[in-house]
Amino acid sequence: MTNNGSHLVLDGNAAASLLQEIFVLDITTAQVQCGACGCTAAVGSLRLYAAPMGAALRCTHCDGILMRAVRTPHGRWLEMTGARYLRF
Ligand SMILES: [Zn+2]
Repeated sequence: MTNNGSHLVLDGNAAASLLQEIFVLDITTAQVQCGACGCTAAVGSLRLYAAPMGAALRCTHCDGILMRAVRTPHGRWLEMTGARYLRF
């Protein structure tokens, strides 16, 4: 057996317990860091641009888009490329 860490590689199902802990928490109290300006704020304090299909949440400091959430006939989508991290 080599020591390249390949024995630590599993599929996403192995992270189910950890992910379920994260995604049942109140997202509005989580801290999110803006990828554009580095500002950190609670998700609930972001500026919301609502549309019938979903929402775009923007940084209150630089107006960068941190999160987009939409509901479609094919599922619920969450895009967070504008955020560096979420901390619960
Ligand atoms: Zn920002």
